Order: sequence, then C-alpha cells, then structure tokens
Amino acid sequence: AKEQGKSRYVRYVEEMDARAVEHARLGAELRQALAAGDLFLLYQPVVTLPHGEMSSLEALVRWRHPERGLVSPAEFIPVAERNGMIVEIGAWVLREACRQMVEWRSRYGDAAPSRMAVNVSARQLRDPAFVRTVADVLRETGMDPGDLLLEITETAVFDSGPALETVKAVRELGVGLALDDFGTGHSSLGLLRTCPVDVLKVDKLFVDGVTGAAEHSAIATSLAQIARALRLQAVAEGVETEAQAKRLYQLGYRLAQGFLFAPPLPAGEIERRLAERAGD
Ligand code: C2E
Ligand code: CA
Ligand code: CA
Ligand code: CA
Repeated sequence: AKEQGKSRYVRYVEEMDARAVEHARLGAELRQALAAGDLFLLYQPVVTLPHGEMSSLEALVRWRHPERGLVSPAEFIPVAERNGMIVEIGAWVLREACRQMVEWRSRYGDAAPSRMAVNVSARQLRDPAFVRTVADVLRETGMDPGDLLLEITETAVFDSGPALETVKAVRELGVGLALDDFGTGHSSLGLLRTCPVDVLKVDKLFVDGVTGAAEHSAIATSLAQIARALRLQAVAEGVETEAQAKRLYQLGYRLAQGFLFAPPLPAGEIERRLAERAGD
C-alpha cells in the first residue's frame, strides 16, 4: 500500500508538472496570438423581457489557435491572469469593443445597442494604469463613457485594496459598472453599500433555480427585490428556457441574457440584426 501511495504521489507531481508546462506554453502562445491578431470578439445580446429585444451587448473574447482551434476564455483568461498578459489583452478587448460600438452608433443611430459591456479581471483592476487606459481608450475611439459598462466580479473588488478606489475613479469618468456573477462571491450584499454599481448580473446558478421549488428560486427572487430597492438594473444570466424567462419576468426581471435569446455572436451577425431593426 505504501508503494502504491508513493507512486500515486509521483504521478500527482508529474501531472502537476505537465499542467505547469502546458500553462507556460499556452501563456507564451497567447503573447504571440495578440500580436498575430488571433484574438477576436463575439457579442452576446442582453435583451428586454418579455419580448426578447436586443438592448445592449457584452463583448466576449475568443482565441483562434492555429492548431488547437477555438480556445475558450475559461481556459486562457486564467493563464493570462497568472502571467500578467491579461493587462494587454484586456486593453485590446476594451479598445476593440469601444471601436465597434462607436461604429455601430454612427451606422445605426437609435437602432444601435444602448451600451457595450466589457469584462474586467481582478488583475486589471490592480494595474495602477487601468484608469488611464480606460480614459485613453474612450478618448481615442470617441466612445461616449455612458455607452460603456465594465463588468467586474465581487471577488475582484474584495481581493485587492486598491480595486475599490480604481472602480470609483472609473465611475467618475462616467462609465457604468456591473457586478458580474452576482451572488456567487462572499460578500455580495456588503459590497453594494460601498461599490458604486449600476447593474447586477444575477448568476446562472440562481437563474437555473427559478422554475423549481421555492427554496431554489428564493435567491433570484430576493436579488430582484434588492435591485429594485437600490434602483439598480438586474440582468438574469444564462437563461435557456421559455419557462425561466417567463418566471423571471414575473419576478420583476426586465433584462436577460442567455442561449434562449442569443449565444455570443460574431460582429457580422449583430450587424445583420441591427440593419433589420434600423430598416423597419
Ligand atoms: P461571464 O462574463 O460570466 O460570461 C458569461 C458566459 O456564459 C459566456 O461564456 C457566455 O457564452 C456563457 N453563456 C451565455 N449564455 C449562456 C447560457 O444560456 N447558458 C450557458 N451555459 N452559458 C451561457 P464565455 O464567452 O465562454 O466566457 C466565459 C468567461 O470568461 C466569462 O464569464 C468571463 O468571466 C471570461 N471572459 C470572457 N471574455 C473576457 C474578456 O474579454 N476579459 C475577461 N477578463 N474575461 C473574459
Ligand atoms: Ca460578464
Ligand atoms: Ca457572468
Ligand atoms: Ca461567469
């Protein structure tokens, strides 16, 4: 048994080594990917309930890898956070999303989405140059600060002292703030007192429960009430069924996002939908 235990340990160490090597390789490739233009953005609509009309968009990054194919952000964002590349990638995402939004505003006018949401990781919030990056991108692209919504997670704000100051400074620029994956962190409600947010994105975890028994829908119900009391917009994330959408509407949700309405879409598909809307 002792022998077996040892070999299991050795195997464990070898697996960890293999993972570390894999991460290092992915990290190095990521550096090249940004330079080579292998990153691109998809845009997932946030829609109004009950009719499912496109209200705003969330930019979601993708990596077209020459050999691996499409790599999901769930895989490479953590790698980029660890090796610091997220600062550059994040700045690129921000600039590209703003550039696209400005283009759509000028092309579609009132039919354009109301705003563009961009995800910001904890590591970016800790970067002392973050606020300046945001200000620079707004100026360079001509983006109206009110058209931009930055999505941050509660852990990102809590894991780091300076993050709250950064968040407030960004808010001063006129940019909107959303708390992403709301309810999954440790002090969601406490954060609402100190952090100047406009939007709560209620995590899919709670949305999944809305059609179930009362104890499963309790959190989504409470979060809708809290949002209303604090005059925040609540967005239900990860809506996949008509039944969920209907129930969410009954609970007071007026904004939702999920595969039921639209998956993350390429810019061209967003344009097709906007052109249709501008034409009718
Ligand atoms: P997130 O910000 O919570 O984004 C929502 C994720 O849920 C997206 O995955 C989206 O495709 C997926 N999703 C949307 N609707 C549904 C649904 O109805 N059902 C299910 N099962 N999933 C749905 P994605 O695009 O793979 O992104 C995963 C995560 O990677 C994001 O979670 C975000 O944390 C991170 N991420 C993506 N793009 C960026 C970025 O540009 N910067 C940073 N820092 N993080 C990013
Ligand atoms: Ca998000
Ligand atoms: Ca989310
Ligand atoms: Ca998430």
